[in-house]
Amino acid sequence: GAAIRFEDVRFSYDPEREILKGISFEVPAGQTVAIVGPSGAGKSTISRLLYRFYDVASGRITIDGQDIRNVRQESLRAAIGMVPQDTVLFNDTLAYNIRYGRPGASDAEVERAAELAQIDGFVKRTPKGYTTEVGERGLKLSGGEKQRVAIARTILKDPAILLLDEATSALDSHTEREIQDALERVSRGRTTLVVAHRLSTVVSADEIIVLEQGRIAERGTHAELMTRR
Ligand code: ADP
Ligand code: ADP
Repeated sequence: GAAIRFEDVRFSYDPEREILKGISFEVPAGQTVAIVGPSGAGKSTISRLLYRFYDVASGRITIDGQDIRNVRQESLRAAIGMVPQDTVLFNDTLAYNIRYGRPGASDAEVERAAELAQIDGFVKRTPKGYTTEVGERGLKLSGGEKQRVAIARTILKDPAILLLDEATSALDSHTEREIQDALERVSRGRTTLVVAHRLSTVVSADEIIVLEQGRIAERGTHAELMTRR
C-alpha cells in the first residue's frame, strides 16, 4: 500500500484569499482518513490537490515519500481511484462505462465489479443487461445508481489509493447506506482519503480531520471527537 502525506500545504485559487492555510496530515498505508467540516472549508480542494488538478502553492504532498510533482501525471492518476460526488457517464453501454476503469478487463471481471458495487439489481431489471445504453436514450439512472457505476469502475481499476468525495443530498437514506457499505468494502485495506460532510458517515475511519476555514481545527477517532463534544 501507499502512504500519503500532506506537509504544511498552502493553496489559493486566487491571490486574494488563501483556501488551505498550512495543512499537515498523513494517511498511513492501508488506512482511512476522513476530512469533515462545513461547506467551503476546503475539503474538496484537498482531494483536487492530491489528484493534481492543481498544484500546492507551498508545502508538499508525497506518496510513499515522493513529491507528487515529480510523478508523471498518468502514473499518479493510475494509482488513484477517484469516486466523485457526481459521476458523469458516457452515452454508451453500462459495460463500457464500468470497463472505463480498466479498458482491458474481461466481461467476467466487469460483471464481478458490478456485483460488488451492487449494480446487479438494476441491470437485471433491463432486458439487455450490461449491453443496455445509459444516457439520453437508454437507461435512466438515479444519482445512487450512477455512483454505483463509479464504484464498479473503481473496483475494476483496483488502485493503490482511493479518493472519495461523499455524495450527500441526492440520495435517500437507504441508498446512502448501501453506497456507504459498498464504499467501505472497496476501501478496506486500501489507503483511503474520504471527503465527508457528516461525522456520522465516517465512524469507522482510522482518523477524522475536522477542517474549518482552511485549517485543521480538530483531529482524532470518531469516539475521541464525540467525547469532546
Ligand atoms: P468544501 O469541499 O469544504 O466545501 P472547497 O474545497 O470546494 O470546500 O472550496 C473551498 C473554498 O474555495 C470555497 O470558498 C470555494 O468557494 C472556493 N473555491 C472552490 N473552487 C474554486 C475555484 N475553482 N475557484 C475559486 N474559488 C474556488
Ligand atoms: P465541484 O466541487 O465544482 O463539483 P469537483 O471536485 O467535482 O468540482 O471537480 C473539480 C474538477 O475536476 C472539475 O473540473 C471536474 O470536471 C473535474 N473532475 C472531477 N472528477 C473527475 C474525474 N474523475 N476525472 C477527471 N476530472 C474530474
